[in-house]
Amino acid sequence: MKIQSIQFGMLRVPLKSPFKTALRTVEQVEDVILIIETDNGCRGYGSAPATAVITGETHGSIIEAISKVIAPRLIGRSIEDLNDLTNRVQHSIVKNYSAKAAVEIALYDLFGQLYDAPVYKLLGGGDNVITTDITISVDYIDKMVEDALAALELGFETLKIKVGKDPALDVERIKAIHAAVNDRALIRLDANQGWTPKQAVRVLRTLEESGVQLELVEQPVCGDDIDGMKYVNERVDTPVMADESSFGPRQAMDVIINRAADIINIKLMKTGGISNAIKVADLSGTFGAKCLIGCMLESSIGVAAAAHVAAAKSAEITMVDLDAPSLCAFDPVQSGVTFNHSEITISDAPGLGITGIEGLEMLDLKVVGT
Ligand code: MG
Repeated sequence: MKIQSIQFGMLRVPLKSPFKTALRTVEQVEDVILIIETDNGCRGYGSAPATAVITGETHGSIIEAISKVIAPRLIGRSIEDLNDLTNRVQHSIVKNYSAKAAVEIALYDLFGQLYDAPVYKLLGGGDNVITTDITISVDYIDKMVEDALAALELGFETLKIKVGKDPALDVERIKAIHAAVNDRALIRLDANQGWTPKQAVRVLRTLEESGVQLELVEQPVCGDDIDGMKYVNERVDTPVMADESSFGPRQAMDVIINRAADIINIKLMKTGGISNAIKVADLSGTFGAKCLIGCMLESSIGVAAAAHVAAAKSAEITMVDLDAPSLCAFDPVQSGVTFNHSEITISDAPGLGITGIEGLEMLDLKVVGT
């Protein structure tokens, strides 16, 4: 099975309601879709969203990095040689993690098709049903409480609350949600780099002292400020998770060894795909740290790939935050992964099992062999 061509498309999916964090507001999911075609007619699918404020990538940069730099190094190569292919992807260009992730997702999809097995089974197997939390966007207190209660009605047992806009108001937000939820769900906080180290300690200690038990707090301080996160981690009981501070294996190791966080948030769009996501999970496990697997606001292709990783690496990845499909008005992708509110189920379909993408707009761009 040899790689013959690589094509590009765009997929746009409206959100049920605007997604608001300390950094940005998003109205719709908009992904670059990648289709790798092989000489025997198989098609592998990958995808990547533009998250300029997180990875520094735009749709244009993703398409350029793949079409000009990564794709020419893959054309004509065999899918059998997956490790060689992922090495080529990782070493073809520095950074550009989401571009690399899109390519790796499509390569693993084809690897699964080659051996007629779902990706998670080729990664070692596991339980094919996983449970995700759901994100509650940062907003007025009444709206956040209303959204939290609506999520409970849908059966979610873990809520990830976005905060980080105003420390004093954040405390009020969390207290109100905690009181309304009344032990019916676990609460995770994601501050999206919104606090200073001292603000983070004050907010978390205030919550701890008022009896609000949090499962974890995600990225309380600026992603570059590893010392600041360590300062927070040393002074609060709430487990701290690194998101924007940890991209690939090297950064994850720095965070863990420095004890700047107890948990690593793995996202394929930050690690550069599946091969490094597995390394981060294994490294974390080696050092006794836990992982959560997350996603960007992205289409269900990338999220399906993350679900396969989560199922296969469940000993290390003990928490799942793959709620992007639940936040979309509908799921235009028919794949082997079914997203039903908190429950994610993976079928035995080969690879990622993608059979159709409704509304996919193909771009007039195709990389072929010379
Ligand atoms: Mg986050």
